[in-house]
Amino acid sequence: MSFLHDIWNPWHGCVKCSEGCQNCYMYFLDRMRDQNGAEIYKTKSGFSYPLQKDRAGHYKIQSGEQIRVCMTSDFFLEEADPWRAEAWDIMRQRSDVVFFLL
Ligand code: SF4
Repeated sequence: MSFLHDIWNPWHGCVKCSEGCQNCYMYFLDRMRDQNGAEIYKTKSGFSYPLQKDRAGHYKIQSGEQIRVCMTSDFFLEEADPWRAEAWDIMRQRSDVVFFLL
């Protein structure tokens, strides 16, 4: 049985593109923190999260775990085009992990 790990957010921020975005939770949470959900940026330490290891040298995301990707953005956002190849490469390196692109 595989275990659902948490979330990998290689970038943050999004473009509202449909009626379904009207009450976007990410925009709401950003507003609570005096931030603007329309500002799209590559996350700093978070970007390489699937490759990060703990002090014992083990991957923080263990082999066989499932992880949700881009929960505060859209993986296929045009603004993220320059970063996506690197993100695919990280996923290739962790082909032992199940990445959910929702
Ligand atoms: S995160 Fe989802 S709901 Fe929010 S603006 Fe982007 S696509 Fe719309």
